[in-house]
Amino acid sequence: MVYMSGNLKDNPSFEKIFSELNCIACNKKTLEIMQRISNIPYFGEIFETITLCKSCGFKNSTILCLEQKEPIYIEFKIEEEKDLEARVIKSQNCIVEIPELGIKIEPCTANEGYVANVESVLFRIKETLFGIKNKKSQEIIKKIDDCTDGKLSLTLIFQDKSGLSDILSPKTIRKILNTKKN
Ligand SMILES: [Zn+2]
Repeated sequence: MVYMSGNLKDNPSFEKIFSELNCIACNKKTLEIMQRISNIPYFGEIFETITLCKSCGFKNSTILCLEQKEPIYIEFKIEEEKDLEARVIKSQNCIVEIPELGIKIEPCTANEGYVANVESVLFRIKETLFGIKNKKSQEIIKKIDDCTDGKLSLTLIFQDKSGLSDILSPKTIRKILNTKKN
């Protein structure tokens, strides 16, 4: 079995909890759901779920953080190619902001936590914009492409009241967030 996400493929300890479900993408009965609880140093326990279709390759992975920490503000400047590889842990409570693009994604019920890298955070934003056919969204997509091509720097800002999100890089700026001011 091949996972699309490079971040999860080296973890064999997922437990299959459902199989032969109807796939929401291709409608064949080949969808599987796997879960595990793992312990990430510093973050504590996280509950990971992978949904995978063996026919069409549909895949979704989410994480739910089981612990709470102090509210945190995280700032990471995407300046060069290797910054795109930095590992990202985004909890379900995290607000994602890219000021250069005028983008702010607030947590809502559909806002899932995930473990990924910076590049796939940008890709997820791009994916959301593909459906919106206006000038503004086209401009944002262009800027994201410029950033992944190394032509434009962008700032990724996370605000997480549960304090569990992080961008794992020596250049990440982390501050305790004063939630009373927000
Ligand atoms: Zn499918």
